[in-house]
Amino acid sequence: MWCRQTAGWCLNSWLAFSMKDLTGPLEQIRAQNLYRSRQVLEGPQGPEIWVEGHRYLAFCSNDYLGLANHPEVIRALQTAADKYGVGSGAAHLVNGHNVEHHALEEALADFTRRPRALLFSTGYMANLAVASALLGRGDRVYEDRLNHASLLDGGLLSGARLLRYAHGDARSLGKRLSDRGRGEVMVMTDGVFSMDGDLAPLPALAEVARAHDAWLMVDDAHGFGVLGDEGRGSLAHFGLGLDEVPIVVGTLGKALGTSGAFVAGSEALIETLIQQARTYIYTTATPPALAAATRVSLRLARSEGWRRERLRDLVGRFRAGARQLGLQLMASETPIQPIVVGDAAAALALSAALRQQGIIISAIRPPTVPAGSARLRVTFSAAHGVEHVERLLDALALVTSRNMSNGSSRSECAEAAEHP
Ligand code: PMP
Repeated sequence: MWCRQTAGWCLNSWLAFSMKDLTGPLEQIRAQNLYRSRQVLEGPQGPEIWVEGHRYLAFCSNDYLGLANHPEVIRALQTAADKYGVGSGAAHLVNGHNVEHHALEEALADFTRRPRALLFSTGYMANLAVASALLGRGDRVYEDRLNHASLLDGGLLSGARLLRYAHGDARSLGKRLSDRGRGEVMVMTDGVFSMDGDLAPLPALAEVARAHDAWLMVDDAHGFGVLGDEGRGSLAHFGLGLDEVPIVVGTLGKALGTSGAFVAGSEALIETLIQQARTYIYTTATPPALAAATRVSLRLARSEGWRRERLRDLVGRFRAGARQLGLQLMASETPIQPIVVGDAAAALALSAALRQQGIIISAIRPPTVPAGSARLRVTFSAAHGVEHVERLLDALALVTSRNMSNGSSRSECAEAAEHP
């Protein structure tokens, strides 16, 4: 605001004028039970975590193979930091691309059985890169209704027309594609859906995509390391190769327990991303030591098949026990085992009741999941033991029976779970 007395901008009135009042919208979020807050961890990831001086049993990390705090991975990070320092210093295309990044890209290409792989700082950035580098105005992108936010944002950022098809439904995709237009067309899907734990019907999606001359891109953030031979992911689980699925994204911050992501595909795809993908070009490369640590965790993930076997065993025990309690589960065989409650307030209450029993499972609410399908997203890790699953089931038995005596019932919870 211009002030005549001072012949300049009055700071106070300018601030009052320009600062939008944000408290109202924040209060609204709180009133809808959708307010999010962070808990501060005081130690490493693991089955047990420390928060505010207390130890809790946790079932909410994506450290599926239990590698985030593995001594060999930690040592690799330390040794490489001694050799290469901490910061990469620049973007990959300036002088930030280190021999450790290069070796990891080669290892990931070999592991995914694709000609090349390209590292990104995060999965979010990798997903933005793919859509925006390959599509533009006049093109179309088709996405599963429950795709991860980064895939949807990638589609929007690309400038292509974004169309959504029914969850996990190749027929719905086929119908939408019958009017595909003349431009480039890409189908994007999660391999394993992050909030439901189910797998996309990749063979059927690949067939539909091929019939309509469309790219198929799979974000395998939650399948990589967990499914398929040696943990090669959802595509290996279904036996799909480069021809069926030309673009795959994997993340390194989940089963591999480190951080970052990669895109794997043909030589031409990777060169196109290097030339065109803004989230690759205009950002600092991750620390080289992180790449060194990831190479060690990749080796462990491949060779230690017992981690995937233990996961399967824990998931089987949990599902059997939860069914006995009358909790209806979703159609998921992966380490993601959501208990859908429905209402955001009820999900918060269940999460708080479990916390009182010394168990942390965060409530996932809209807009992360569709309205009316708030849930506890229970996730398992190979670092969990059978005794941890038993403690979880005992706690669930206790808190859900209390709920029953408060007027609601387990079958209400089950009913909600049927309609996520
Ligand atoms: N895709 C999916 C399906 C995810 O669940 C996530 C992270 N939750 C991402 C991409 C983003 O990965 P990152 O955390 O490495 O950014």
